[in-house]
Amino acid sequence: MKVLNDYRKIIGEKLVNEIYKKARPLYNKRVIHINSTFYGGGVAEILTGLVPLMNDVGLDAGWRIIRGAPEFFSTTKKFHNALQGDKINLTDIKKQIYIQINEDFSSYTHLNHDCVIIHDPQPLPLIKFFKKRQPWIWRGHVDLSHPNPQLWDYLKEFILKYDITILSHKEYANNLPTDYRIVHPAIDPLSTKNMDLSREQIDEHLEKFNIDPKRPIIAQISRFDKWKDPLGVLEIYKRVRKEIDCQLVLCGSMASDDPEGVEIYHDAIQKSEELTNNGDVIMLTLESNLLVNVLQRASSVIIQKSIREGFGLTVTEALWKGTPVVASNIGGIPLQIKNGKNGFLVDPHDIDGFANKVIELLKNQKMAKKVGAQGRETVRQNFLITRILSDYIDVLNEVL
Ligand code: UDP
Repeated sequence: MKVLNDYRKIIGEKLVNEIYKKARPLYNKRVIHINSTFYGGGVAEILTGLVPLMNDVGLDAGWRIIRGAPEFFSTTKKFHNALQGDKINLTDIKKQIYIQINEDFSSYTHLNHDCVIIHDPQPLPLIKFFKKRQPWIWRGHVDLSHPNPQLWDYLKEFILKYDITILSHKEYANNLPTDYRIVHPAIDPLSTKNMDLSREQIDEHLEKFNIDPKRPIIAQISRFDKWKDPLGVLEIYKRVRKEIDCQLVLCGSMASDDPEGVEIYHDAIQKSEELTNNGDVIMLTLESNLLVNVLQRASSVIIQKSIREGFGLTVTEALWKGTPVVASNIGGIPLQIKNGKNGFLVDPHDIDGFANKVIELLKNQKMAKKVGAQGRETVRQNFLITRILSDYIDVLNEVL
């Protein structure tokens, strides 16, 4: 199991000592995180890294998953979409499914912890079904800059019972009924997804998936979700391909709390049939951290063409690997990328803008290398998991 000491070489002894020190008042405090999936998506990724480190510094931290039927996840996916600005038909049935699963979960779940941390909208109403004996924190991970007003109004009924909210960006604090703190998501540099790999390991793995290590690769690694716009990435690729011989990899595992993925995946397959048949476009749905690591390292350029993006851990992961990123100027992405310095930002709907930048990077390796090196440094300074640990300790010291 990983311990904070393992990160000393990366973040320095001083920071490690500081974190241990400020965690002292929290020894044996029982903290429980609740979200809706163990894998697929940024929240699961963060909790996998964070929870063991919380335990290492002396807290008693756990992680639970709310269980739900398929109709619960299709409802909460609609909520997720509407929180990012979609329309929603907020019927009584949807509300009932949402509430019922939370109530059922409460009937077989003890929460006698010192602090409860609820991630995202799925388990948000749980607070209604427990006698509140401890601080409750709501951690909203999605892009809340343009929430659907009707849904936001409904969800506020639950949010206002929380002691504090944690967000990724201050622009998401939109009429929030509670105080809030900002904690940026971050990556674990020692995980299988982010650890160093040798060139041989990378090439060997690429060949397993019929990807040619000798032809340039561009890739987007993201759930098949309309907000990640995989179809837009295909359009970008078609334009790039006219000028440069390269492959496109679209890699998106299916999260168990995201029922729309399969549909969007099939749509993408249909729209790229010829390109997938001749091996130019490779679509992967395998859940594999090693594969993500390999693709982020092997690619000449990583694209993140999101229409909305709470933060965009895939961007952080690629920056850490020194791979140049061309991404939408939206949500949490500009918190990570300063245009032209450590990556490139493009209007989310500007297909030509994306294609031109990708072509430029494929042609100019010197620029790609320089920008990539800056990207890694940005992550080293700001977006490693030890930073989240430190920020959570600050919030917990405040509420406990
Ligand atoms: N991810 C993965 N396999 C995939 C696609 C995505 O493991 O095929 C991971 C990705 O590496 C990142 C997380 O899922 O760690 C996605 O987080 P992000 O913040 O980019 O987006 P979210 O899915 O939370 O909207």
